[in-house]
Amino acid sequence: MNLLYKVYDKCLRVLYPQTCYFCGKICRTPICKDCLKKVTYIKEPRCKKCGKPVRYAEQEYCQDCKKRETAFEQGKSIWLHKGPVTWSIYQFKYHNRRIFGEFYAKELWRLYGKNLKNWNIDVIVPVPLHWKRKRVRGYNQAEIIAHHLGRLSGIPVNAKAVQRVRYTRPQKELNDKERKKNLKEAFQITKHWKKVPHVLIVDDIYTTGNTIDAAARVLRQNGAEKIWFLTISIGQGF
Ligand SMILES: [Zn+2]
Ligand SMILES: [Zn+2]
Repeated sequence: MNLLYKVYDKCLRVLYPQTCYFCGKICRTPICKDCLKKVTYIKEPRCKKCGKPVRYAEQEYCQDCKKRETAFEQGKSIWLHKGPVTWSIYQFKYHNRRIFGEFYAKELWRLYGKNLKNWNIDVIVPVPLHWKRKRVRGYNQAEIIAHHLGRLSGIPVNAKAVQRVRYTRPQKELNDKERKKNLKEAFQITKHWKKVPHVLIVDDIYTTGNTIDAAARVLRQNGAEKIWFLTISIGQGF
């Protein structure tokens, strides 16, 4: 950890006294005892493609992955998207709790550091926000996680490789068919992309996977060979 980072970290702690990252109660650890009971870490059995929990170990893929081809190889997530996790990510995204990003990245690194080494990742690419949305929010939450993960893993981060060229409606407002249409040609490669074989895409939430797939497609079309992803939370696969 370099000195500048230590100072930055101290400043944040003064501004935000330690509270539970899942409910906001004052607490010495990032997660309080009550939330620890409610937060579900993703475990096996999970879909071999998207990592969503599946009901049986014999089940290779979830309902979605069974019937589709994806541009990415595989991905993993930390928690099931429900209860305190939903609250936490909401605060992180819309209430300026950027400090959560560091905790999320530490969890990703603790759980999936080995995967990152096996996948032999050359660069981390966060899912970009449209510039209009980024301007309103002030930051891209995926980028924050990516930078912390980059610092922990030593893997370079390229937050400018892909850009959103269409101002898409929030995915959560749409059904599956509309989501796909909404994302068609939503991403474009930029001049900042330097061709490397193995890319890790980072995002906050995995719902249908269409967003990550659309970003992965653009990278594949521009010379990336294999793409994996990591997200903070994911829905249930059954
Ligand atoms: Zn809590
Ligand atoms: Zn799946």
